[in-house]
Amino acid sequence: MIELQNLEKRYTNPATGQAFYAVKDLSIVFPDGEITALLGPSGCGKTTTLRMINRLIEPTGGRMLIDGQDVMAQKPEMLRRHIGYVIQQIGLFPHLSVAQNVATVPDLLGQNKAQTAKRVTELLGLVGLEPGQFAGKYPHELSGGQAQRVGVARALAADPPVLLMDEPFGALDPLARDKVQDAFLEIQQRLKKTIVLVTHDIDEALRMGDKVALLREGELAQFGTPNDLVRRP
Ligand code: ADP
Ligand code: ADP
Repeated sequence: MIELQNLEKRYTNPATGQAFYAVKDLSIVFPDGEITALLGPSGCGKTTTLRMINRLIEPTGGRMLIDGQDVMAQKPEMLRRHIGYVIQQIGLFPHLSVAQNVATVPDLLGQNKAQTAKRVTELLGLVGLEPGQFAGKYPHELSGGQAQRVGVARALAADPPVLLMDEPFGALDPLARDKVQDAFLEIQQRLKKTIVLVTHDIDEALRMGDKVALLREGELAQFGTPNDLVRRP
């Protein structure tokens, strides 16, 4: 379970010298084994929130706990092993094959070739890429949807209990997005990761989220199940 308590990030606007809150007094719980969609328009603080959880950005106030442990007290290396991160531009290494891209995760680098190959095969199967067909391909030979699946496989390689996903389907055309979203929901049914999914797309939030947290100007405006949200006037 991830718990944010009165989390805040304050920036100073360089043009005016005025301080403003990108995230303000944000208290929210992301339950274990569920997808929580962090929804809101551009600039409402979604990415800042997500990146504070894995400490790519340091908060200016508040607390973050994962399974009761203070995130700020943990070594970033330990934290990153615990937390997978998937972004829109997944940034596959262009000169590495699909299998090599998936195997760049520190946990796999320490293993022998046979173990690594087995794990990579497992992961590609999991994200719906036939290992025999895709392991040896290079990123430029993949469709957008396929590349995004490789990114998900890589994020899952260390088997982190927590997955942070920032607009993971945002760069895909609608057809590919549907397919990858379905595939991902199917994976999640088996893996039951604790997922925070950032999106500005309300349909995606309602479809993917067990819970939806609506942010407005850095603050939590609504929180509930998709049903709770659509029922409100
Ligand atoms: P979202 O992900 O919802 O689009 P962000 O979290 O990226 O929003 O940004 C929230 C607000 O904080 C925006 O007003 C943005 O311009 C501002 N912001 C983000 N990063 C910085 C930064 N490094 N310095 C100053 N302002 C920032
Ligand atoms: P997805 O739904 O996974 O994104 P697409 O509908 O985009 O897949 O692609 C359909 C097929 O076209 C795929 O089987 C893929 O192998 C092939 N394809 C797409 N882009 C490329 C490319 N740049 N090079 C080679 N094959 C491609």
